Amino acid sequence: VSKGWAGGSTRQWRRVRALVLVRDGFACQLKLDVCTSQATCVHHTAGRSVTGDDPTYLVASCAPCNLKLGDPTKGASPQARKITRW
Ligand SMILES: [Zn+2]
Repeated sequence: VSKGWAGGSTRQWRRVRALVLVRDGFACQLKLDVCTSQATCVHHTAGRSVTGDDPTYLVASCAPCNLKLGDPTKGASPQARKITRW
């Protein structure tokens, strides 16, 4: 949890997170060696401070992967799938 998350749990964010989890079928997209494959979080692939909560830059993630990957601005992240339809 970084300072980028300050005041982050808004109704809008919960809605975006739910949409991303459904889009990715509640399957973790990060698939690190700690992966549980059961996505419960959403990972910002380019950093929340960069992209905000644009779903184009969000991927479903399990908690261990999300924790391990940490700050996306400091490492490689997978590309979110392009969304053509919600
Ligand atoms: Zn995972």
